[in-house]
Amino acid sequence: MTKNATTRAATLPKTSSATTTLSILAAAVIGLGIISVAGHVQAATLHDAAHDVRHATGFPCH
Ligand SMILES: [Zn+2]
Repeated sequence: MTKNATTRAATLPKTSSATTTLSILAAAVIGLGIISVAGHVQAATLHDAAHDVRHATGFPCH
């Protein structure tokens, strides 16, 4: 019983950390995907909108 509690206590933080890392990774991939799509899309309207957002947020542009 003591061994089981020790195992659970040692496993729980690791699982929580892995979930947090996965969440951060997923958010980064989605964010970079949005920036890539908005930056390389051919439609002039979307390109202009992305261009304005880049300037408004101080993202390096030109
Ligand atoms: Zn610009």
